[in-house]
Amino acid sequence: MSERIRSIRSATPTAAGKQSADEALQTLLDGFQRFRNDVFPEQRELFSKLARQQSPQAMFITCADSRIVPELITQSDPGSLFVTRNVGNVVPPYGQMNGGVSTAIEYAVMGLGVQHIIICGHSDCGAMKAVLNPQSIERMPTVKAWLRHAEVAKTVVADNCGCADHSTLGVLTEENVVAQLDHLRTHPSVAARLASGQLFIHGWVYDIENCTIKAYDAERGEFLPLDGETTPSASPRARYLAS
Ligand SMILES: [Zn+2]
Repeated sequence: MSERIRSIRSATPTAAGKQSADEALQTLLDGFQRFRNDVFPEQRELFSKLARQQSPQAMFITCADSRIVPELITQSDPGSLFVTRNVGNVVPPYGQMNGGVSTAIEYAVMGLGVQHIIICGHSDCGAMKAVLNPQSIERMPTVKAWLRHAEVAKTVVADNCGCADHSTLGVLTEENVVAQLDHLRTHPSVAARLASGQLFIHGWVYDIENCTIKAYDAERGEFLPLDGETTPSASPRARYLAS
């Protein structure tokens, strides 16, 4: 498995951001050729199994940020994660917006029967910076409207946290994950399977520089390091036996 993930890494351009448009496209085309010629043949069996069906065990909702690669940080094979990404790893509350995120959640739970949904925020998140500094997105009306779903986190931090400005971003990023977990639970498909103990939800914050993940523990009301020793859970207690 790690061999495959290394292959992902070797296909990533090293001098990101400074290429011309033509060079950037060529990097992608070269990457596909390397994937097709070097990586695919080694995993032919897996891909022929995946050609007709998928049965991912987890849904992964994270930010669209290019630095977050769910399959890489969880060392997951193709077909293992049902991934949905958007600016700020937002989950709109049920009923407010029947868009892509809500559709993906319903399909993952009802259609694919995933057992876990992970909402993963991250360090240095541009969306969270924009929430703290709304003037920066004044000319981006769609981004501004979307990030209203994170407004609750900003209010929770403003009313409860005495943190200085330099640490507000980290606290806000965690509170945003908690807020999106709350929104997630308003979706009927999610609520029903949480109640029967068939689905588990998780809130993570991934640190890009230090390669750490902190996970929300609902019972303790705090984020704990995901260090292999503890398994923090954001799931409420099940109230019904699964039928
Ligand atoms: Zn982000």
